Amino acid sequence: LRGVNLLRNPWFNKSSAFTEKERDELGLRGLLPPRVSTFDEQVTRLKGIIDTYEKPINKYIVLEGAHNSDECLYFELLVRYIDQFLPIVYTPTVGQACLQYSHIFRYARGLYVSSEDKGRVRQLVANVPHKDVDIIVVTDGQRILGLGDLGVNGMGIPVGKLALYTACAGVNPQKTLPVCIDVGTNNEELLNDPLYMGLRQKRITGPEYDALIAEFVDAVRERWPNVVIQFEDFHNSHAYDLLDQYKDKVPCFNDDIQGTASVVVTGMFSAMRALKQQLKDQKVLFLGAGSAATGIAHLIADAMVEEGLTREEALARIKLFDSKGLVTKKRTAPLTPAKMPFAAEDAPAETFLEAIREIKPTAIIGVSAQGGAFTKECLEEMAKINERPIIFALSNPTSKAECTAEEAYTYTDGRCLFACGSPFKPVEYKGKTFVPRQGNNHYVFPGIGLGAIFSRAKLIPNEVFLVAAKVLADMVKPEDLERGSLYPALSEVREISAEIGAAVAGYIFDKNLAEIEKPADLKKAVKDAMWDPKHAHFIQE
Ligand code: NAP
Ligand code: MN
Repeated sequence: LRGVNLLRNPWFNKSSAFTEKERDELGLRGLLPPRVSTFDEQVTRLKGIIDTYEKPINKYIVLEGAHNSDECLYFELLVRYIDQFLPIVYTPTVGQACLQYSHIFRYARGLYVSSEDKGRVRQLVANVPHKDVDIIVVTDGQRILGLGDLGVNGMGIPVGKLALYTACAGVNPQKTLPVCIDVGTNNEELLNDPLYMGLRQKRITGPEYDALIAEFVDAVRERWPNVVIQFEDFHNSHAYDLLDQYKDKVPCFNDDIQGTASVVVTGMFSAMRALKQQLKDQKVLFLGAGSAATGIAHLIADAMVEEGLTREEALARIKLFDSKGLVTKKRTAPLTPAKMPFAAEDAPAETFLEAIREIKPTAIIGVSAQGGAFTKECLEEMAKINERPIIFALSNPTSKAECTAEEAYTYTDGRCLFACGSPFKPVEYKGKTFVPRQGNNHYVFPGIGLGAIFSRAKLIPNEVFLVAAKVLADMVKPEDLERGSLYPALSEVREISAEIGAAVAGYIFDKNLAEIEKPADLKKAVKDAMWDPKHAHFIQE
């Protein structure tokens, strides 16, 4: 590339930072203001522009502009100000961006495969300009965050998740590909929106849907045989099926199921460090028995089995409470297959408080999207049963949280170990400051992807999610635990991803699932492989 084409290419564009020499050699002389900017000056300039906008969505729009005109600059900004910009390019603002996607669309990015493309997906994949793709995040837009069916507007999610892969784990952005499978939408509002950019039809499902996904998976693997595929924000009715169908054939995972489980189990491991106890001795009661709950519950059971319990003993220590009460074997209505393994012998309980009194759990985990469901009475009861109760209120957004951080600390007399799904400010209680942290998937999925990519994994076994949880829990500092934080600071996320990446890659090497030789110094090799925007311009083919 030369001249103006270089300035129009986000991978290679250095804009005002092209050096005097480059301006001469690349036909850029005269096409830029005369004084050469430093990278730092460019970062300052872009940050200044973003700071003039108050609304997060406007910050998002400016950031995406940079993403599509000068990727290195965009990523340097993300890396430097991760605390500030992660909530913009990822939840919660990315949700807003998805709702408005067809209205704020300016740059085409990634790959769109629609049901009209049946039989020609291979041609679409051939059009992708990337030479190598290491990782794909794919959605069909049917369950975007807690926002439901957003059809093709869901593309914002793969774009945002892949930005995190690069910012948090140093995955080369030229080797990432966001994909949206558009099979229509059942969202009437979108179907009636004149600017909506997706197919104007109701969703197709069943064999036709499965065939399109299969054609897509085959086509991308034909072009990039080792590509890691992350399934994201699929509806429950497809999420488990897709994972079951592909997990033993291709390197893939579902972050909503497996990444969530990993990060919540991390919180449990951190709590064990604080309590100096083992997971196998806990009794866990979930409020909610949906995809998040059952995914987490299975991984907790896996961890208990690793600590020496039989599967049966482990399952017996975990109970679910859903919209109809405690999930027991005595229930007349048929249980879904996902709830079945956790069905208890216990007497039925109609209220969650009754269930707490009956089961006497050491931990309650809220994934019910029922705001305020951990009432004062529930929390006081937990504090009565346990010296230090474990209270995780994970539902999003904040209005759906089962309790606030302040309620958790206040009603347990400051004794609980708390984690949340939505952000809460530090809480002062009886002269002590607690710093609650979010059990958010962003701590784990970038590192897991990095490890799978680095090792050229043939498959991604479920065990790596436990491996990641252990590594992450070990990185929580004693000072963090002292302040009630069960997760490390976000500012350490690149270090965290490197550690998780190395551990996950190590597991994959040891199980003979890697396609390359294991390097002598794995940690160093993984760190060295991480892409850094500061040194990245001009990676020519
Ligand atoms: P889901 O599959 O729809 O499950 C929701 C569950 O809540 C269902 O089992 C439902 O019962 C149960 N429920 C509904 N009303 C209830 C009530 N009044 N009392 C008790 N249980 C009730 O949703 P999901 O994907 O699991 O997500 C649930 C929540 O977890 C969301 O708010 C989500 O934001 C949050 N989440 C957080 C994270 C994170 O922090 N990392 C990750 C994933 C999910 P039935 O089965 O009887 O319908
Ligand atoms: Mn998701």
